[in-house]
Amino acid sequence: MGASDTSDLIIRNGTALVGDQLEPVAFAALIVRGGAIVEISGEDVAADGTPEIDADGGFVLPGLIDCHVHFDLAAHPAPYAHWDRAPFIRSITCFHNGLLALRAGITSVRDLGSADGMVLDYARQVNSGALLGPRVIAAGRPITMTGGHCSAYGRVADGADDVRLAVREQLKAGAGAVKMMATGGISTPGNPGLPQLSVAEMTAGIEEAHKAGVLVAAHAHASQGIANAIAAGVDTIEHAAFADDETHQRMIAAGITLVPTVIALSPIAEGVGIPVATVEKSLKARATYQANTARAIAAGVTIAAGTDAGTALNPIGLLLDELLMYREGGMTETEALRSATATAGRLVRRVGEDAAVGVIETGARADLLIVDGDPRTDLEIVRRPAGVVIGGKPVDLAWLEQTLNELSLVLAEPLE
Ligand SMILES: [Zn+2]
Repeated sequence: MGASDTSDLIIRNGTALVGDQLEPVAFAALIVRGGAIVEISGEDVAADGTPEIDADGGFVLPGLIDCHVHFDLAAHPAPYAHWDRAPFIRSITCFHNGLLALRAGITSVRDLGSADGMVLDYARQVNSGALLGPRVIAAGRPITMTGGHCSAYGRVADGADDVRLAVREQLKAGAGAVKMMATGGISTPGNPGLPQLSVAEMTAGIEEAHKAGVLVAAHAHASQGIANAIAAGVDTIEHAAFADDETHQRMIAAGITLVPTVIALSPIAEGVGIPVATVEKSLKARATYQANTARAIAAGVTIAAGTDAGTALNPIGLLLDELLMYREGGMTETEALRSATATAGRLVRRVGEDAAVGVIETGARADLLIVDGDPRTDLEIVRRPAGVVIGGKPVDLAWLEQTLNELSLVLAEPLE
């Protein structure tokens, strides 16, 4: 199962969607050396023993990137109860989630919070190539105020010095992203619209993260909390369910990327075991959330795709459904794809990493999908890619399917 991160590969006979704009380029041979794209050639090249894939006239696009997941959750109706399960089950869940991601064509994720270092440990294994899974940039524990969103499991920090310490702890543990709670949430008690960590608190934490070259994500639903996060210098706003037009303009002016995760509320309904308070808040927020995401798209806010996968009934792998909601909200298919490739790729670069991610160009990481038709006219074609390549290495999709089935038996163990 060990997956070397430095594989060579030749893909023959297809059309690559190249660069930030996903421009179609027909190729005879797309050549990968040491896990990176080195040439997209119109001329055929001779076989030299390098592993080969025949794209058979299909399209090759960059592997998809989900900028907001929780690999240490299992989409249970009461999601956070997972963090009280046995460490073994939680470990297997991470591995299982990684395989679900690959099956859905997701080759990089940004994990925005676990109860401890579980996903940081998982990330070390997959990023080194020792374990098969997508590349993972993980935040460790989310940073939240006393009584704040996810304070039952996050790193509670009060005051600028404590937030600074909390960020240093995550960085020391190996975090490649930092997550802060700027407002309440929908999945925990309290009003999701009210501000939480203050400007001064977030400023101190963001200064620490940026010193280490690490980007900061702020969970924020409404305008005051978003304004606080922007004033503090945050890099991405997560959710923004209740953001108004002025707030969208503020995001544009500050060069902030929005990660909507609007799919997360879709499966929420009564009678499936989700806590009543969460159901009530979700149903109330859902239409507004979708409408505000469409307004952000229309306003021209930079959007990177994310799903909040792992939360209630929102399993890893629904990224395409999130993209379809952006399409419904006014993006073209190409814009929706770009939100999950080139735009998202800027959020999942590791510090000191030179190779571009989420784009097909010379020198970029060879995380690639092979599909039978043109995804720029039919996004559905990306739901189950015919081929998935990670770091230049083709994923054995039959093996992956079988392993997912086997692991599901282990994970069927009841939550209590
Ligand atoms: Zn989240």
